[in-house]
Amino acid sequence: MSEFRRNPFTGEWTLYAQNRKQRPYQFQWRTVNQKEDIDCPFCIGKEASTTPAIYQDGADGAWHVRVFPNMYPAVDTEIAQVSKETFYEQVIGGGQHEVLVDTPKHGQTIDQLSDQEIFHILQVLQMRYHSIRENPETKYVQIFKNCGAEAGMSIQHSHWQIMGVPIVPERIRKMILLGMQTGCKFCDMIAYEQQQKNRIAAENQEFLAIAPYASRFPYELWILPKTHMTSFSELTREHLQYLASLLQYLLPKVKTLRANVGYNICLMDAPKSREDFHWHLQILPRIGGFAGFEHATDCFINTVLPEDAARYYQHDQQKIEEKEE
Ligand SMILES: [Zn+2]
Ligand SMILES: [Zn+2]
Repeated sequence: MSEFRRNPFTGEWTLYAQNRKQRPYQFQWRTVNQKEDIDCPFCIGKEASTTPAIYQDGADGAWHVRVFPNMYPAVDTEIAQVSKETFYEQVIGGGQHEVLVDTPKHGQTIDQLSDQEIFHILQVLQMRYHSIRENPETKYVQIFKNCGAEAGMSIQHSHWQIMGVPIVPERIRKMILLGMQTGCKFCDMIAYEQQQKNRIAAENQEFLAIAPYASRFPYELWILPKTHMTSFSELTREHLQYLASLLQYLLPKVKTLRANVGYNICLMDAPKSREDFHWHLQILPRIGGFAGFEHATDCFINTVLPEDAARYYQHDQQKIEEKEE
C-alpha cells in the first residue's frame, strides 16, 4: 500500500511505501559484497524466488532478459485505506512496479553488454512501458536504472525498474512549464549545442549526447533524440538501434570515471496526458554526493565543468583521481 503526499509549499511529492522496508539489501553498506555464494533471487536458475515472470526471452535457466513484478513494490494495485486530510493534497498509490533483469550473469554490468544486447533490453523496456501506460490510474511511467550501491542499488544483479505512478512528478511538470512554453526549448538547445560544439559528448545520426550546461552532477549526460519526439513510446526499431549504440559507446566511459562508480540512468518522458515534451535519457554519475546545502537550496555544487566532462567523453582523456571524502 502506498500513498503520495504533496508538499503544499514546493509542489513536490513524497511517496510513502512502508513495505519497502522489508526488501533485501545485498551490499555491505555501500561497498560491493564480494562473496561468491550470495543468495541472489535475480540469478539464472533462481526463477522461483521472484514473482512469476511477465516476460522472459527463454526457458527457465536459458534467458537473457526477464521481467517480473517487484516483490516489494513502491506502488501497487492494492488501494490503501488511509484517512483523507482536507488541508493537504494526497493521491493513493495505485500503480505498477516491475523489475527487468538485463543479464543472466551475476556481476555482469550493462557497460559490458554489446549494442545488440542493449537494443534488445530497450525493446523490452518499451514493450513494458506500453503495457504499464495502459493502466487507467497511471499518469506517468518512470523507467530508471540504479547502477552501484552509491546510486541506490539494493540487489547487486544488474536490473532496471519501471514504475507506473498516479501523479506527474514535479520535476517533469516544471520541465514542461519552462521548456515547452514557446516551441520546444530542447530542440533549440540541440541546435545551439551543435553550433557551440563544446558540450557534445558523442552523437550519431539520431541522437545527441551532451554534458548539459547546468549539470547538477559531475560528468552528467543527457541523451536526446535529434528530431523532436514527445515520448519514448514513439521510438522506432531503427531509433532504438541508434540509442543502443550510443549507450554502448558511453556507458564504459561512465563506468571508468572511477572504481565502483555509482550512476543512475533516468528516462525523462512525457506524461500520459500527451502534453508535449522532448523525451530524453539522463545519466547521473555519483561522484562526491550531495549534502546539506543541496538539500536546503536545490542548488547543487558541481566540481566539474560540463565543458571538461564533454572532453572526457570525447577523448577519454584525464581520468579523475579517486578521492577520499
Ligand atoms: Zn544474481
Ligand atoms: Zn523538441
